Amino acid sequence: MKNLILSTSAFMLLLSGCFFFSCKKDSTTAPNSPGLTSVSAKGYLSAANYDKLIIQIQYVNGLQPSAGAVDDLKTFLNQRLNKPGGVEVTYSNINSPGRSMYTIEDIRSIESINRTVKHEGRTITAYILFLDGEYSQNNGNLKTLGIAYGSSSMVIFENTIRSLSGGLGQPSVSSVEATVCEHEFGHVLGLVNNGTGMTAAHQDEPHGKHCNNTSCLMYYTAETSDMINNLLGNNVPVLDANCINDLKANGGK
Ligand SMILES: [Zn+2]
Ligand SMILES: [Zn+2]
Repeated sequence: MKNLILSTSAFMLLLSGCFFFSCKKDSTTAPNSPGLTSVSAKGYLSAANYDKLIIQIQYVNGLQPSAGAVDDLKTFLNQRLNKPGGVEVTYSNINSPGRSMYTIEDIRSIESINRTVKHEGRTITAYILFLDGEYSQNNGNLKTLGIAYGSSSMVIFENTIRSLSGGLGQPSVSSVEATVCEHEFGHVLGLVNNGTGMTAAHQDEPHGKHCNNTSCLMYYTAETSDMINNLLGNNVPVLDANCINDLKANGGK
């Protein structure tokens, strides 16, 4: 599991204008939900086996992500993936599972009951679940915003994002949604050293499957003033050259 975490400390936000991201690592390859074929990062990057991508965005009623964030994610993927058949998004909603906290097991179970878009023929798929409650492993002010928990599966803690963005002096909801979605999809694409090999050493090993460039989308924490300013300016961080080179070398562009 690869988590993106944000500090909810109002004190820190007020004190320094800080907007913290950090990511935990999980070096193990997460199992897939039942009934789902495992796919490799290369399956997303290259057109050799799959020439089209369909993303199922599934949200708890009322928590549909902003159109701007989804457009941004599609642009990001179109820039990096060889998918001549295109990248499509489908939306569906579910009732709240009714919990204030969710474990990874809960999330897998929600996916296995509700995911309808699955790999078929030359179409590869991805699943992004926008949930209402918090991640069960949240620790104090550190809140997980998203996790890539399977080879084609991601969860976004949408309520947590909305509670920390969109206010005065805060980044916009859509820029945080886009940042978290693209960061988690970066893990699905095998970054960093997470199924896509490194063309140059740039893994921030103490922080797991992340990049050592503080301004890269795949950096585990965005607590530098540059990143804060970028997010406050509502600019979603982008991949650096090392991350892009890795994707290119594994079939991407
Ligand atoms: Zn991460
Ligand atoms: Zn990078």
